[in-house]
Amino acid sequence: MRIWILALTLLCATGTVAQPKVIAHRGYWTAEGSAQNSLMSWAKADAVGCYGSEFDVWLTGDNRLVVNHDRVQKGTDIDMTKASARTIRKIILPNGEPIPTLDAYLRLAKSTPDMRLIFELKTHDFVREDLAVRKSVRRLRRLGLLERTDFISFSLNACLAFRKAVPEARVYYLTGDLAPWSIKNLQLTGIDYSFAVLSQHPEWVKEAHDLGLEVNVWTVNREEDMRQCIAWGVDYITTDYPERLQALLE
Ligand code: MG
Repeated sequence: MRIWILALTLLCATGTVAQPKVIAHRGYWTAEGSAQNSLMSWAKADAVGCYGSEFDVWLTGDNRLVVNHDRVQKGTDIDMTKASARTIRKIILPNGEPIPTLDAYLRLAKSTPDMRLIFELKTHDFVREDLAVRKSVRRLRRLGLLERTDFISFSLNACLAFRKAVPEARVYYLTGDLAPWSIKNLQLTGIDYSFAVLSQHPEWVKEAHDLGLEVNVWTVNREEDMRQCIAWGVDYITTDYPERLQALLE
């Protein structure tokens, strides 16, 4: 009997340790009244107690930073990298909000101290990325948000620029074409790969952990895929349905 209780306790203890943290993808945009990368999506992710909320950042044609996913907004010919912030701000999201400036987004984040910022810099040319990194880091530092921010990018150049600008920052690479040892050699914090990539290379989770790296996986929306990620022992799961994942983890 005692052995069973001990075994059960150990199982529960290990179970707790292995629990991945929940990250809302583009904010909690599937919640009512929300929209991808809107201020509301941040507030909704915070309201349900997500560990972090992911958002996408562009450097505009007039060197301002805005939060949006697509480079060219659907139904318009407005290109985030070419248009002015003023023009971009005129785009209204499905929930009625304008596309937020990074500044508005960060000010809201500042008011919700419990959630980590999962800051994705979109891919630009290298010179523009370097400028975007410098501007972003300066702004985050000034607002006292740098310690709460994890940086992610499909651009290796952007990842390395964040690493150089903030040596202690947590930086994760998204593209999925590099094995964990390469990420270790580049001195990044970990991999943030798609479910499809990790399904091809489930051994990368253990390899990453053995190297002291962390593993995040996107964008995991189906319950069976969430279960698979939990079984792999990933550290973070990025999802459009954070409450679905939270219910599964309970
Ligand atoms: Mg993103």
